[in-house]
Amino acid sequence: MVSLIDRYGRILNYVRISITDRCNYRCRYCMPENGITWFPHEKMLRYEDIFFLVSVLQEMGVTKIRFTGGEPFVRKGFISFLKDFQSSFPEIEIALTTNGSFLSSFAEELSDIRLSGLNISLDTLDPAKFKHITRVGRLEDVLEGIKIVASLKKTPLKINTVLIRNFNDDEIIPLLELATENGAMLRLIEFMPLDDVWDKDSFISSDEIFQSLPLGKWKDITDNSPTSCVSGPAKYYRNFKWGYTLGIIAAVSHHFCDSCNRLRVTVLGEMKPCLFSNEFVELAPAIRIKDKDCLKELILKAVSMKPSGWKIIDRSGCRMSRIGG
Ligand code: SAM
Ligand code: SF4
Repeated sequence: MVSLIDRYGRILNYVRISITDRCNYRCRYCMPENGITWFPHEKMLRYEDIFFLVSVLQEMGVTKIRFTGGEPFVRKGFISFLKDFQSSFPEIEIALTTNGSFLSSFAEELSDIRLSGLNISLDTLDPAKFKHITRVGRLEDVLEGIKIVASLKKTPLKINTVLIRNFNDDEIIPLLELATENGAMLRLIEFMPLDDVWDKDSFISSDEIFQSLPLGKWKDITDNSPTSCVSGPAKYYRNFKWGYTLGIIAAVSHHFCDSCNRLRVTVLGEMKPCLFSNEFVELAPAIRIKDKDCLKELILKAVSMKPSGWKIIDRSGCRMSRIGG
């Protein structure tokens, strides 16, 4: 089996692909109120481009693809694409990240697809706060979607919550209850300094999140063995008394760079070796003409550029929705 290995010996077998930069929400920590200037359709990777790219990535040892965005479900034909993708790449693990707003409409069709994970973003259980943070979303859509996909019991579910001071830091218990009722794992994520939305006062470090966890004692149960469901980048904690488990993702304060196994591809076909870097390699020209050798060289170039660790040089180039958070 071939592997993509970077300068620091990390095996890169996981690629996150942003399916679209468009989104039906305008989350305050991700996008400005009026959205961003969307990339023209003709510049975005077509589905057939993604097929070609993944066929090459698979030859290079990639075993897992996560589709994200923007909101993947706003892209026309996304479900049909997923079905075709699964038939073409039966050995690739497919995972999705979504805001959950379309799940109730697509749950049945989605259940035909073997997903290794479905991550649903949900920051609050209060309808007014939900509207505030997403600017346009309706909490009931997401709750309904979670309920339906959970009832189908086909996919491991995670609920991802960006924890924001004085906004939702008092909602850990209700979110835990919701996750547990639906057989999902709650993960609390540090608010990341990207875009023009960084507000230092709202940031809560993972250490502080851990110290302030409710319900008494929490034991670290993180297990990074290959088949574990409580492995990084989150650290997982169990409250044995109440029977809850949750993850904390310290994207900012304690980086998981040493064990990072990912590459990212933006909607324009740029390969980004690191979320927190403005460096990228343009894969699109080689993809468009289906030049496999050239594409492999470009991918290797991106791999060679992967930094040992996190640093932010200039945040203005970073848009979570374009890179695929
Ligand atoms: N639209 C989908 C969603 O919201 O799940 C997928 C794309 S979104 C960019 C992926 C993830 O990035 C979401 O869980 C979102 O909460 C997270 N995210 C966006 N901006 C963030 C920020 N500044 N800090 C931490 N997480 C952020
Ligand atoms: Fe859209 Fe996801 Fe960004 Fe919210 S976090 S604006 S749902 S891409």
